[in-house]
Amino acid sequence: MNPGDSLLQMSFPSVMVPTRESVAVLDRPGERLLIAADGVYLEVVRPWIRVVRRIAKCDVPTAIPYGRVEPVTQQRCGPVPPQLIAEFRSIARNGHPIEIMAWIVWNALTGAFRIVQLTARSQGAGHIEGYQRPDLADGEHLVVDCHSHGAYEAFFSPTDDKDDRFDVKFALVLGDCGTERVSTALRLCAKGIFERSALPLSWRAVLDVEVV
Ligand SMILES: [Zn+2]
Repeated sequence: MNPGDSLLQMSFPSVMVPTRESVAVLDRPGERLLIAADGVYLEVVRPWIRVVRRIAKCDVPTAIPYGRVEPVTQQRCGPVPPQLIAEFRSIARNGHPIEIMAWIVWNALTGAFRIVQLTARSQGAGHIEGYQRPDLADGEHLVVDCHSHGAYEAFFSPTDDKDDRFDVKFALVLGDCGTERVSTALRLCAKGIFERSALPLSWRAVLDVEVV
C-alpha cells in the first residue's frame, strides 16, 4: 500500500469484527470502521464519550462471516451538572431576543465541568454568524454545544445541521426564551450522525423552576 493510504489506514482503520470474542475497544481518541455481519459501524472515541453506531447495512443477502456489534453510548465524563443547564437558560433569557451560544466543557484532568459563553461577529434575533470557538484549558473538551433561538421555538435548522456535521458533542437548543417555559431540542452529534434524544429529567427539572 502506498505511504499515504497506509497512514490513512492507521489513523482511520477498518476492522473485521471477530466472531468468537468482542471487538477490542479503540484505546485512543479517534474513529474506526467496524465491519460486522450486518453492516458497517462507526466507532467514535473522545476522552468524554464512546459511540458505536451502524452507518450502513448490507442490502444483498450475501453471507459475511464476521461477528456482531451492539450500538454503544458510553458517556465517560458522567452526567452534565443540571445547574449548568440552568445557567445557560439564565444567559439565554438575559440575552433574549438575541441568540446566545455557550459551550459546556469537561476537563478530563480534573473531572470538572464549566460553561463558557461564545462571542460572535454578528449576533441578532434569528442568526449567529462567525462565532469564535473559545480558548479551552489543557484537558478540556466540548460536551454540550448550547444555543438559543430567542423568541422562536427550539429546533435544529439546516444551518445547525451544517454546523454540527463534523462534531462530536451534544447540541442543545433553547427556544421561546421570553416565556415562562422554554422549549428545548437536544441531540447527540457524532461525525454526521444526528440522534434526537429526550431531555434528561434532571435538566427538565431545573428548566421548569420558576424564573424570578
Ligand atoms: Zn438553531
